[in-house]
Amino acid sequence: MKYANVIIHINTSSLRKPFTYKIPDSIQDKIRIGSIVNIPFGHGKQLKKGYVIGFTNNLSFDVSRLKEIDSISEEISFDKELLDLAYFIEKRYFTSINRALACILPAKIDTKHKKRKYIGLIKDEAFIRDYIYERRGMKKYEKRSLVLEYLLEHGSVQVTRLLEEVNVSRTVLSGLEKSRLVDIVDDVSLRVPYDSSKIARTAMHEPNDEQRVAIDSVSDAIRAERNEVFLLHGVTGSGKTEVYLQLIEEVLASGKSAIFLIPEISLTHQTVKRAMSRFGDVVGVIHSKLSAGEKYDQWQMAKEGKLKLIIGPRSAIFTPFLNIGIIIIDEEHETSYKSEHDPRYHAREIAIKRASYHNCPVLLGSATPSVESYYKASTGKYHLLNLRQKAISGNLIDTEIVDMRKELKTGNKSIFSRSLKTAIEETLARGEQVILFLNARGYSRFLSCRDCGFVAKCPHCDVAYHYHKMANSLRCHYCDSEKRAFDKCPDCGSTRIRDFGTGTEKVEGLVADTFPSARILRMDVDTTSGKFGHDDILSAFERYEADILVGTQMVVKGHHFEGVTLVGVLSADLSLYISDFRSAERTFQLITQVVGRAGRADKKGRGIIQTYSPEHYSVKLAATEDYASFYRMEIAYRKMAAYPPFKHLLMFLLSSKDEMYLLRLCDRLMEHLNKGDDRLEILGPTKPSREKISDNYRRVIYVKSDNYNLLLGVIAYIKEVKIKEDYDKKAKILADINPIYI
Ligand code: ADP
Ligand code: ZN
Ligand code: ZN
Repeated sequence: MKYANVIIHINTSSLRKPFTYKIPDSIQDKIRIGSIVNIPFGHGKQLKKGYVIGFTNNLSFDVSRLKEIDSISEEISFDKELLDLAYFIEKRYFTSINRALACILPAKIDTKHKKRKYIGLIKDEAFIRDYIYERRGMKKYEKRSLVLEYLLEHGSVQVTRLLEEVNVSRTVLSGLEKSRLVDIVDDVSLRVPYDSSKIARTAMHEPNDEQRVAIDSVSDAIRAERNEVFLLHGVTGSGKTEVYLQLIEEVLASGKSAIFLIPEISLTHQTVKRAMSRFGDVVGVIHSKLSAGEKYDQWQMAKEGKLKLIIGPRSAIFTPFLNIGIIIIDEEHETSYKSEHDPRYHAREIAIKRASYHNCPVLLGSATPSVESYYKASTGKYHLLNLRQKAISGNLIDTEIVDMRKELKTGNKSIFSRSLKTAIEETLARGEQVILFLNARGYSRFLSCRDCGFVAKCPHCDVAYHYHKMANSLRCHYCDSEKRAFDKCPDCGSTRIRDFGTGTEKVEGLVADTFPSARILRMDVDTTSGKFGHDDILSAFERYEADILVGTQMVVKGHHFEGVTLVGVLSADLSLYISDFRSAERTFQLITQVVGRAGRADKKGRGIIQTYSPEHYSVKLAATEDYASFYRMEIAYRKMAAYPPFKHLLMFLLSSKDEMYLLRLCDRLMEHLNKGDDRLEILGPTKPSREKISDNYRRVIYVKSDNYNLLLGVIAYIKEVKIKEDYDKKAKILADINPIYI
């Protein structure tokens, strides 16, 4: 007699253990590992879903009390590789098996065929995250945020399933629909998200010498089924995508499949079009904006081998191909490859794990590789491939760094240096377009009283309110609590109120004042709130409906604008002030990317970078796109300061609304950590730079070591002692090695 071990599909992390069920005769020969089954559970009459993760032959206890599986879902199953991957995620990322399984399964696992309503997000992930973040701690948005978080994690899902699992009323959903955050639609089955028959076929380019070397190296590994990681370092326009496509072609020809990851949903369209022009209808897409039906179809078609190439952001790494020949990660340095919520997995790590199962290479590509990857390449763990030249000779960009301290000395207090102002005027006169980039939204950073120095702070978070002028309000960018702006100091009654710092809202106004004839568009979280807000603004700009685009980093990611010949970085310093060992790296990447937006067509491009730290290496070297020198400086700094990749940092982030409870939890964790290996350096518990967010107190504990595996051991050990479960109700613990966000 054989019994099935089943994980129950319920969203509480306490139910992490499998339960044993009897298998009825009718499904004996159909059931296998990865089957999804309907089972009785608890006292309720309603059946629950469960995942079969294994079988047991002999039970040592009385089997008469065991319940029996009701039925098996014919629709869907996952295989052993993905199940092992889920276990890997559970352990490595300190999460529950349920959450890990949710990563590897498509949203729709329902078995009944009825007319179904589906609910899905219609804004991109970044927007939704900001929306939730800004409303943290506000009672009236609590339910909304729960729904949004659920949709972020699961993508489009059936409405009934959402109501069942999130425990909100339908009014919350229609509220979200009215606010144009979600769409509720009838499921359209087998809809193809892109129609390959409408896309003209293109031929491959004859590779140049550098491309040839790159292609040959990786294709050797493909043919020999070697599990190796390659890092393709190539300046923008050097033909990286061409290399990817030729390698994919080879993989498909050999009968295997390929996964191609891109950093953002908004880049899907152009990449899919390009791939379909080569490979036609074997190209599929997986991302969270697809309807549940679409996603399910793509998932199933990939599993059945009808699709051979899947393109998509982070979550596409879980595509259930049975025979993978290559995994490609474009712009591998992008932080979007790392999940921000539990489990905080990194797609690069998952890719390497999957590739080792499939005996295939992983190809990472970037113009500005992450310091960690480049280090691995230069120490021989990865193979380094270089593309030093542009594939088609284009105009290089003239860049100039402007020292804003000098501007101040000459009496120019405006946010535009003289040089940038002249350049904007000239560009407008030629009828060409300008992008102005600033990494801060809102009007100004805070309001303050000139007489007594009073600054309004959010009562729920450990931050000052931002000032939004149009709305005449003070807003917390973490929990979105809001207050009317004051024109009289609440402390001393003075009317001498000043605002400090500049955000995109203020810039927009200043641009309008300074260049009255220019048509202006602004793109940031506050302006991209219509259904297609993001795309609308970009395509309006593409159609020359505006001369100047002012925006936050939303504007910089890989978009092509033919008409843009001038890019201005209003302040290169904002990301440098963040106290984080990656701040120089991020500044370098950001400036390189922004400046790369200029002069992509046949016209000459210009980039002007304004800064108060012109001597900083990340600013100086980004201006000349000198990655090699940047890397040399940065790696020396990391070594000296004992940061990754030399020493690794395991962060435990603990949070709770109850501070005493939190401190007890810290003590408990510290006790266990102190019992561990004495080669480990334990720091903390300390308060992170924002001690409180949305009324949740936070503490961090760091464990430092030059031995990565030792840190994995710490995670495994802390998992074993079940602290997370013990404190589950009132506190949260995240574990993250070399974190990107706190
Ligand atoms: P990247 O991905 O590095 O930005 P792309 O692959 O998009 O670069 O290439 C930039 C441009 O050069 C594209 O228009 C592409 O079609 C073209 N291109 C790439 N490789 C070649 C080649 N070997 N010969 C001619 N044109 C090429
Ligand atoms: Zn005052
Ligand atoms: Zn707040």
